[in-house]
Amino acid sequence: MSLPTVTLVAPGSPAAAAGLMAGDEVLRLNGQVPRDIIEWRFLADEADVDLEIRRGNVELQIDVAKAEGQPLGAEVESAVFDRVRTCDNHCEFCFIYQLPKGLRKSLYLKDDDYRLSFLYGNFTTLTRFTEADLERVITERLSPLHVSIHATDPDIRSRMLKNPRGGMSLRWLRALLDNGITVHGQIVVCPGVNDGAILDDTLAGVLDQYPELASIACVPLGLSRFNKEPAMRMHTLPEAEAVIDTVHDWQDIFLATLGHRMVLAADEYYLMAGRPFPDAETYAGFDMHEDGIGMARTFAMEFTGEVDAPVGPQSGFFAWVDGAPAAGYRAPRNPAGDTGLRGCASSSADGGVDGGGVILRPRADAPIGILTGEFGAKILQPLIAQLGRDDIRVIPVANEFFGGNTAVTGLMVGEDLARVLADEPMTHRYLLPDVCLSEGRFLDGLTVDSLPRAVSVLPTNGIALRHALGLPASGSPTSTMETAR
Ligand code: SF4
Repeated sequence: MSLPTVTLVAPGSPAAAAGLMAGDEVLRLNGQVPRDIIEWRFLADEADVDLEIRRGNVELQIDVAKAEGQPLGAEVESAVFDRVRTCDNHCEFCFIYQLPKGLRKSLYLKDDDYRLSFLYGNFTTLTRFTEADLERVITERLSPLHVSIHATDPDIRSRMLKNPRGGMSLRWLRALLDNGITVHGQIVVCPGVNDGAILDDTLAGVLDQYPELASIACVPLGLSRFNKEPAMRMHTLPEAEAVIDTVHDWQDIFLATLGHRMVLAADEYYLMAGRPFPDAETYAGFDMHEDGIGMARTFAMEFTGEVDAPVGPQSGFFAWVDGAPAAGYRAPRNPAGDTGLRGCASSSADGGVDGGGVILRPRADAPIGILTGEFGAKILQPLIAQLGRDDIRVIPVANEFFGGNTAVTGLMVGEDLARVLADEPMTHRYLLPDVCLSEGRFLDGLTVDSLPRAVSVLPTNGIALRHALGLPASGSPTSTMETAR
């Protein structure tokens, strides 16, 4: 059990007025020891909060005068103060097993904690879920939750999770649904394991046993070059096409029987198959946006001005690992708190550094390079082409660090960016989406400061990109959604 440590006290807030300070460790809140940020919020929502804190070696009592429901005005360091519940599965497709050695420790933690499912949209298999957890979820209405299904056949699910409890643990899914908890499901599709007829059976099982599910995301397994599981491999083109066809067939069935499409295929499948993305209506509110479902569609809508606010955050590998609950339980990806729209958010210098150490400051009208993963490039290139501007180009960054099929932008690392940027002109402006950063660091531990060219870090959405390119707030170009092949 670690103590909640205050990281920020909002000026003018009740906490600030009462004298709470960053660095204070909270021993008790209204006489209770909160286990996680959920309990913290419940307790802090009360009127007149009593805090027992430790400041250095001194224990103090701080009484905060506030109204019920008024924000306390203090943020704490992590989302879970007792231990994060780790998973007892050993899935062959687990990406954590495919990380190279030597990355920061937090990246290797295999969580299977319903609280992180509620807070961050992490998927839980429910193999460690308990009666007490169910009671808490129901009592505190921790909804929605996100559950990994993979297969509804108990034997196949147990095999995929490499856990004998895998077959039975979906009984908790039934209990959650029986108690009105909204649950989004996920199927990680592994070719030759749970695709084809098994995917059909799984979706039939969903219709039969779990029709109250809010949605199901079919996502391809992620494979790095460090994969050691011989049965795990990338989809072939026909396999990727078959997944899309299966999903579309089942959408029709679900729509006819339940009134909504239920199952959606990840954007990666459409990119792999070179097929157009479904229209916005198919995504029915983009509930699974953070799971890579409909991100391409929403990015185009944002970029072309069809919507005037970002649809939602885009999560990379960092959804919670470095997890300060700064805003909406999210760690700031870019600690400077700067969108990059005012210039370079990433380094003390505003320009690249030439071989002699001279800082080159890109002019405001310098040509622009947009850095993105190979999948991101397929989405961006048609949108940028519609602008008809030869001073803006998309720079795909091949992921050689992880290799395999890791073409998503959220897995871009500093080493690959440095390699690509070293060959780019020093006087150009470079834009980098923040989805590949956590507190200014890439997955490989490098920072934006270490890149050979200055980059402007942007929130990962079409509106931020539009602003950064100096385009008007809305209007043209029109949103046609092709993928570049
Ligand atoms: S449940 Fe998730 S974290 Fe655990 S082994 Fe499987 S993929 Fe990895």
